[in-house]
Formats: sequence, structure tokens, C-alpha cells
Amino acid sequence: MSDREVNSSNQRKVLVVNATPKPYAEVTDDDFATVAAENFSIRETSGGVILVGACPRCGDPMEFPWVDDTYRGVTETATVTAPVSRRIVTMLCTCTAPHEGRPGDSFGCGAFWNLAIED
Ligand SMILES: [Zn+2]
Ligand SMILES: [Zn+2]
Repeated sequence: MSDREVNSSNQRKVLVVNATPKPYAEVTDDDFATVAAENFSIRETSGGVILVGACPRCGDPMEFPWVDDTYRGVTETATVTAPVSRRIVTMLCTCTAPHEGRPGDSFGCGAFWNLAIED
């Protein structure tokens, strides 16, 4: 093991994004929601909102468009007495970074979590 290649003279910039790259896995965790609530911001669009932030599992930047159906006067149940001021969004990671084992036609690392959006 004396002739091991060490490119000490050619140091490259190292991006410490994922200290431990995570394989694709459809998992959730209470911490995901906690972390997401802290680092996601809401961007309003004409059709709804886009949640922008870093995935709490893999740390990759991601955007999650969310169309708020309940907000458009869908009043099937007229017996609702309390106006909904908090809505739960089920988010899932949509990052474009590679994750081992991910199905070819999907995005993200598989993480999902619920986020409450308050009016
Ligand atoms: Zn990722
Ligand atoms: Zn992720």
C-alpha cells in the first residue's frame, strides 16, 4: 500500500452537502416536519403556493408546488362550522440529486412529511 494515489497537489473543491449520502427510501419522521417548518419558505403563486427549502432528510434543495383545493370554494360539506385556518400539506422530497435505489421516473430521496400551513 505504498503507491496509493493521493492527489494532494490537485485539491478539488469539496461540497459537503451530504456527509453520508442516503439511499432512496420512503420514510417519514417527526423530525422532518420540525426541520421543514424551520427552513421552508412559502412562495405564493396564482394557482397556490410553492414551498421552497431543503429536504430535511437529504438536505438537497427542493421545491414543492401545492395547489390548495380547499381554498377555492369547495364546500361540499356545508355543515362545517369552524373555518379551517390551518391546513396540512403532505410534502415529499422532490430534489434532483441522485439517490441510490430510486425508481427511474421519480425525484427526491423518498422522504415525506406533513407540514401545517396557517393562514
Ligand atoms: Zn436529495
Ligand atoms: Zn430528500
